Amino acid sequence: MIDFNIPPHTGAEEQYIQEAIEKRKLCGDGMFTRRCSQWMEQTLSVRHALLTTSCTHALEMAAVLTNIGADDEVIMPSYTFVSTANAFVQRGARIVFTDIRPDTMNLDERLVEDAVTPRTRVILPVHYAGVSCDMDPILDIAHRHHLQVVEDAAQGIFSYYKDKALGGMGDYGCLSFHETKNLTMGEGGALLFQKDQSLETAEIIREKGTNRSQFFRGQIDKYTWVDYGSSYLPSELNAAYLWGQFTMFREIQNDRMETWKFYHQAFQELEQAGYLTRPVIPSYARHNAHMYYLKLKDLDTRTRFIAYLKERGVMAVFHYVPLHSSPAGQKFGRFHGEDKYTTRESERLVRLPLFYGMGQDNREKVVQTVKDFFRT
Ligand SMILES: *Cc1c(COP(=O)(O)O)cnc(C)c1O
Repeated sequence: MIDFNIPPHTGAEEQYIQEAIEKRKLCGDGMFTRRCSQWMEQTLSVRHALLTTSCTHALEMAAVLTNIGADDEVIMPSYTFVSTANAFVQRGARIVFTDIRPDTMNLDERLVEDAVTPRTRVILPVHYAGVSCDMDPILDIAHRHHLQVVEDAAQGIFSYYKDKALGGMGDYGCLSFHETKNLTMGEGGALLFQKDQSLETAEIIREKGTNRSQFFRGQIDKYTWVDYGSSYLPSELNAAYLWGQFTMFREIQNDRMETWKFYHQAFQELEQAGYLTRPVIPSYARHNAHMYYLKLKDLDTRTRFIAYLKERGVMAVFHYVPLHSSPAGQKFGRFHGEDKYTTRESERLVRLPLFYGMGQDNREKVVQTVKDFFRT
């Protein structure tokens, strides 16, 4: 059986976890957390990267940092993970869903401005499959309407828009290190931002509403409760696993990219024959091989396709059910404009197995099984 995903493990992780144990410091913000933060800041060229317990939590921190309040509005695609919306719903905000582009499954930048109202505070682009949204028009709309931008770059580490790392262009960017992402620490994430003014508040939110981070740096002589906060810092054990992954990121990325390219080449003929659609990478985007998906004729074809592959030992899976059609989406948000592509394209999409170290035999078996489906 070929799994859809196996969490990445390189063999470098154990040594660092052992080191963390020997240091007798397992709680957050130890040596491995610091190493991971600095590494992200350098590698992704962002001023600040705070390691968090998940991307969900990084999004929650971003929501607090934007100062969003009750009945303020956030514009985001409906085709995304629930956490993108929940983080803002938690603050009492209303979600305004807009349609996606059928080529990238990302927020359609041409539809954003029409959804802006006097209550709009935040635009939230989600970089689906690690393929960048068209950020310049989005940043321009935000600038002209005095809105903040929060990037959901959960799938986007090592992806770029033009020459800028995803997660580093908006006011805040959120990465995920969940076991389904390119690099992992089990559960984890990061909050990225460029503005130095955001640092103190972000550290306070992350440290239960206290100024303990400043205390540890010796900037103040006692620490106290200064604002709203929660506990968003991961344990050193998790950070040590992530550090092992960071030291091996090239191997992981090269291997994923090989799989992506192998699939892409292999399905060219089927696309030309009209059986399926392959992912589109716009010229402004450099992607990270996070995901390989195909789009089939319709929902019925996809259902048969998934069942056919499963019978033959290949786990292919669909993805998000559009949030605006879910019970919570209806309660907390509304869809602005016409749902031309969100529902239709999400029903056609199926993701193929793609994980570090899957091997050439498995790649070939996946391709052959897909080809066999269209021959029957
Ligand atoms: C994975 C994912 C999240 C949530 O990440 P966690 O680290 O599991 O909280 C949020 N948004 C998107 C688009 C994701 O793919």
